[in-house]
Amino acid sequence: MDNHKLLEVKELKKYYPVTGGLFSRHLGDVKAVDGVSLYINEGETLGLVGESGCGKSTLGRTILRLEEPTGGEIIYRGTSVTGLDKGELRELRREIQMIFQDPQSFLDPRMTVGQSIGEALLIHGVKDETERLQRVAEILERVGLEAQHALRYPHEFSSGQRQRIGIGRALILNPRLIIADEPVSALDVSIQAQILNLMLDLRDEFGLTYLFIAHDLSVIRYVSHRVAVMYLGKIVELAEKDEIFHNPLHPYTEALLSAIPTIGQKKKARILLPGSVPSSLEPPSGCRFHTRCHRVLPVCPQEGPPLKDNGHGHLVACHLRGVR
Ligand code: SF4
Repeated sequence: MDNHKLLEVKELKKYYPVTGGLFSRHLGDVKAVDGVSLYINEGETLGLVGESGCGKSTLGRTILRLEEPTGGEIIYRGTSVTGLDKGELRELRREIQMIFQDPQSFLDPRMTVGQSIGEALLIHGVKDETERLQRVAEILERVGLEAQHALRYPHEFSSGQRQRIGIGRALILNPRLIIADEPVSALDVSIQAQILNLMLDLRDEFGLTYLFIAHDLSVIRYVSHRVAVMYLGKIVELAEKDEIFHNPLHPYTEALLSAIPTIGQKKKARILLPGSVPSSLEPPSGCRFHTRCHRVLPVCPQEGPPLKDNGHGHLVACHLRGVR
């Protein structure tokens, strides 16, 4: 793995205004992503984990500029891409592709798989049909399907095969960075392993970099080099994978880890998180986790802890942790 930053986001924000009343007054903002800073090195997989509603998918979509950022900066290969126009964005999307949870959402049921995958090539200037067909056939075989599957329609495939098509579609333009948003969470467990292994093989073969978004810590553990934990629009902990799994420093991470089954290790007591993630329209004051935290301190509702290095690049946002 290369130690060059491929992508960096600084204080990235994505707010959705909420309006109401007779004159559509601005009532507030849903702060889906609220000041996120992180980087991903070339060839690395950064796992992004958190409960549903924590903003992790919005973060992925905002990095790709499928959502316009409200503030902050996105730097790709050393250049800010926050203010790109439409033409420049098209070029960026050749390099950064997305894999979605549900491939049905982007596969047009009226188009053959070959047409769906080849469409991206056409948009990016590959006018020669023979070349397009050839490249589609090659990519289908590389993701574990057959060249002749290009002539079939999406409904003729199983969910696992459709995700292979989704991966092929993401790969056809030779991207460097893939944002994978819950790519296996809709699949049976046996199929999940096949798709994860395929993604890891492709990472090595094509030198890909992944931002891998998931709510399942077992999946995150399997694929990631480093892991970022997100809660209510903010990163609360970020470290090397082994650090996160063996030495979690944030009470939220502790609670998430206590819920995953372990084999051959002494099981720690499960920490139950009360309730669900609060609304990001009116997040709790101070530390946003204080309403559910099993270690809450008097200072927590008053003051939000900054994300600080607790040593060796292990970042954590919690008043319990000493800052070096
Ligand atoms: Fe819990 Fe306080 Fe740490 Fe927040 S800052 S995680 S409420 S101990």
